[in-house]
Amino acid sequence: MDTIYETIGTNEEKNRQVFAQAGEILRSGGLVAFPTETVYGLGGNALDEEAAAKIYAAKGRPSDNPLIVHIADIEALKVLCSKIPDSAFKLAERFWPGPLTMILKKSAVVPHTTTGGLDTVAIRMPDHPVALDLIRSSGVYVAAPSANLSGRPSPTRAEHVRQDMEGRIDMILDGGSVNIGIESTIIDLTETVPVILRPGYITREMLESVLGTVEIDKAVALGKQSDAPPKAPGMKYRHYAPKGDMVIVEGKNPDKVMECINRMARDKMQNGIRTGILATDETKACYHADCVISVGNRESEISISSHLFDVLRQFDDLGVEYIISESFSRKNVGYAIMNRLLKAAGGKIVNTDESEAER
Ligand code: AMP
Ligand code: MG
Repeated sequence: MDTIYETIGTNEEKNRQVFAQAGEILRSGGLVAFPTETVYGLGGNALDEEAAAKIYAAKGRPSDNPLIVHIADIEALKVLCSKIPDSAFKLAERFWPGPLTMILKKSAVVPHTTTGGLDTVAIRMPDHPVALDLIRSSGVYVAAPSANLSGRPSPTRAEHVRQDMEGRIDMILDGGSVNIGIESTIIDLTETVPVILRPGYITREMLESVLGTVEIDKAVALGKQSDAPPKAPGMKYRHYAPKGDMVIVEGKNPDKVMECINRMARDKMQNGIRTGILATDETKACYHADCVISVGNRESEISISSHLFDVLRQFDDLGVEYIISESFSRKNVGYAIMNRLLKAAGGKIVNTDESEAER
């Protein structure tokens, strides 16, 4: 299949034509990738089982991993859900459009193909003009997981979508780099106490300021061991992963952490392994490896979240076989950043304080 590639720019007339074409593709069961404020999404008609099946096929995504349905209008909740608690309206008022996905009981119109066989549905109103214009011009509810091949880092630029999806989908809309760079926070509102199934830019504290107590799914809580499977099926899969092996190094003393990272890099390179270091603006100059890339500035969480997946893809492009990453504070958005990094590293983390204690 030839993939149509269009850039949304400042020419209003051209944009109108592109949205009309993209809307037509979605209405007729095709797939269109588009930017949101979190990551690029791979959209298809959420109420069309065949379109949903095409999304799983294009991504190579397991069919038990449900899709998030994107809407442009709060009224859509009443069509897609069978029971809407007050908490959903409160959260929508505060955080929509925005990077928050709510899990609610689905109505009969939503096919099980879209929900991975579940009786609940994930819904989000994205805060990006291209996403909202696309949903409105298509007139359909748009099921859209991240537009990457399953397991790879989520796409934060149209070029990433092209790398993974060229020839597999009908159209890519290029709306530039995304702003947030990590996927939406997912909150399950079907339980008595709301539960965060995936951390994101909307933090637990922000949610608690609206809802009171909010829990974090045990299988997702950082630093806790759990045998329970995660409640968001997608969180159980290897994810966000670069091609190279990855390890995170943490510790109280930043100098020790740097020393440890440099030592590990030297060992790997001596063994002929192409090694990369994921650094920050503050530390980049202190490292020695085949590739040292800064993910952002420690003073700005969003500079880190917005570049994280791009940097992981850069290591792939540079043929890096082993990546050593700094760690980040788990406060605020740092919690979600560490969640993605730990997934990318398959949970491998070295603590310099512990290795110190062992000596
Ligand atoms: P993605 O769109 O690629 O960011 O992935 C969507 C995420 O939402 C995956 O982790 C899914 O498992 C999760 N998800 C979607 N629908 C549901 C649902 N009904 N219940 C729990 N998790 C869901
Ligand atoms: Mg994804």
